[in-house]
Amino acid sequence: MSDVFADRVVIGSEDRLAEMFGGSLGKDGIKFSAGNPNADLFPTAQIKVALNDAIDKYGSQIFEYQTVSGFTQLRSRLAQWAAKTAKIKAAANNILITQGGQQALDLIGKLLLDAGDKIVVEAPTYVGALSAFDQYDPCYYDVAMDDDGLNLEELETVLQNHSDIKLLYTVPDFHNPTGVTMSLTKRKKLVELAEKYDFFILEDTPYRDLRYKGEKLPAIKSFDKHGHVLFVSSFSKILMPGLRIGWVAADEEVIAHLRTLKTSSDLETSGIMLAALNQYLENSDLDRHISSMLPTYRKRLDVMLDVLDNTMPTDVHYTRPEGGFFIWLTLPKVVNAQTLLREICIPKDKISFVPGKVFYAHRDHENGMRLNFSGVNEAQIKVGITRLAMSIREAIAA
Ligand code: PMP
Repeated sequence: MSDVFADRVVIGSEDRLAEMFGGSLGKDGIKFSAGNPNADLFPTAQIKVALNDAIDKYGSQIFEYQTVSGFTQLRSRLAQWAAKTAKIKAAANNILITQGGQQALDLIGKLLLDAGDKIVVEAPTYVGALSAFDQYDPCYYDVAMDDDGLNLEELETVLQNHSDIKLLYTVPDFHNPTGVTMSLTKRKKLVELAEKYDFFILEDTPYRDLRYKGEKLPAIKSFDKHGHVLFVSSFSKILMPGLRIGWVAADEEVIAHLRTLKTSSDLETSGIMLAALNQYLENSDLDRHISSMLPTYRKRLDVMLDVLDNTMPTDVHYTRPEGGFFIWLTLPKVVNAQTLLREICIPKDKISFVPGKVFYAHRDHENGMRLNFSGVNEAQIKVGITRLAMSIREAIAA
């Protein structure tokens, strides 16, 4: 039966995303494995008003087919938002609205990658990007992550040895899964490398505005003079994932090709949702909404770091993010995170995390783990991380 399916299904059959969440925890379980925002912080009442306002304003026409690029007024707002928050120069014509950032990753993969084409990814990197790119059967090159982002010496070695790298995928702000942020110096240098070696940078930024400490940095795209950077953003983390609204900012030629690919895929993003979002942005202050969420997430991050500091053995290392949703833990090499999860943490501790292996293009690291702090409260963090530390100590001693 399986040979009736296209090759890309077989390639995708390892299904990285499905591997992530392990088994069931029962009702008192504590999930550090999720990647969700905190639903208590959603502006549900304001979105309800915005939906009603949009229907009142446009009538039944809003339920018609609209345009594939998505609502010009909304695209202009997004261009202004990009200028204000990321120092990106863009107009409505440089923006394509997508079904979440995930569709943008898929469309960019479809636009650039033939089978065997070379793509550089961070090691580790966002598993959903790998699962999107897997469909196009590229050849992955890993580059390690330092505390200030991608290791650029390693990148340059890859670029020198492989003249035809097409694309580099990076999550420069509060990286998923490590929480690391790329320094200003590296952002500038990365654009110089893209110019020198002529490759595209896919800058994926869903966590960009969720900074709890430190100074905001300009986007990599803000240093782009010749159209090497494709900037992707999303409303999933700053508003709600259920809207399924993301967007790409890029040169018009790239946007035109992506628009054609999007038409073939889904014709357009839901017009009523775009009208509602546009109306929400008119009625409400998005900056204020984002600011109102920061203290809750900041507190959760601080509590998690505090408990990690007080409980983890000295040979366990972890990142100290300034924003986003995740902390990355590196265990001593003798400990396999997947085994720890399956044999001890899920059945005994009733806690879950994501074992690091799925975040590596070549699945060749067994001793990392991603911990989510945005979806768990402070009491859960204290209990859950203390249990995790005890289990890690046992695993190291075993
Ligand atoms: N990129 C990254 C780095 C993510 O973490 C996510 C969601 N977890 C996405 C893209 C896609 O999110 P969405 O489609 O909801 O915008």
